[in-house]
Amino acid sequence: MRKPFVAGNWKMHGSKASILSLVTGLNAQANQLGDVDVAVCPPAIYVDYAKRTISSEAIAVGAQNMAVEPVQGAFTGEVSVEMLKDFDCEYVILGHSERRAIFGETDAEIAQKVKVALTNNVTPILCVGETLEERESGVMESVIATQLDAVLDVVGIDAFSSVVIAYEPVWAIGTGVTASPAQAQEVHAFIRGKLAGLNSAVAEKVIIQYGGSVKPDNAKELFGQADIDGGLIGGASLNADDFIAICKAAG
Ligand code: PEP
Repeated sequence: MRKPFVAGNWKMHGSKASILSLVTGLNAQANQLGDVDVAVCPPAIYVDYAKRTISSEAIAVGAQNMAVEPVQGAFTGEVSVEMLKDFDCEYVILGHSERRAIFGETDAEIAQKVKVALTNNVTPILCVGETLEERESGVMESVIATQLDAVLDVVGIDAFSSVVIAYEPVWAIGTGVTASPAQAQEVHAFIRGKLAGLNSAVAEKVIIQYGGSVKPDNAKELFGQADIDGGLIGGASLNADDFIAICKAAG
């Protein structure tokens, strides 16, 4: 039985004032979370502030990205995995479609980052997903397989027991358009099936989150699908009531 996992991706949003208000709301309701793992991923500069203001042990903190270089050095503007660990970050989102599309991150770089995270005991949340054009032209599965293969080639299938996968159809991120539960389940089953072809025990264990316009009113049906183990939540994670409701729907 997989324990569901819901993570909030705050993206480049927030200020000390807004984060304090959000965290105050999360702290007040954290005792209602139930049997679900929960994390929030603030912008890097606010990781420590979030960590210090979150009073519930039920809510972990993660980062949204990290450097591919494993140790500190002359890499202006980057944040290393060691720095994340120094601030007790348990998770790091890697390969988000915004990083791929806006910042040109390649499958090869993302795979190296996954390796660096795993080597340092930070759990990667590996994002994969197709654009609308790729879905409509029938290459959705091969796009996702390529994204996964790049990482599998570097870390191997056994390491996937320590990887969280987030299936995030690019066309559903921040658009208000959600994949239907059946559409999402189809891809989740494809991902799990692909991993099962390499190691069925790992495939059975791996957490596969769905991400893309999850809201309190669609969360339960999405999370009720056989291969959907929680979600990666963008916009709705900036509202404490909505995020807690989504977490409860997973639990
Ligand atoms: C995301 O950014 O990972 C995401 C899923 O965003 P949203 O929930 O806003 O679609």
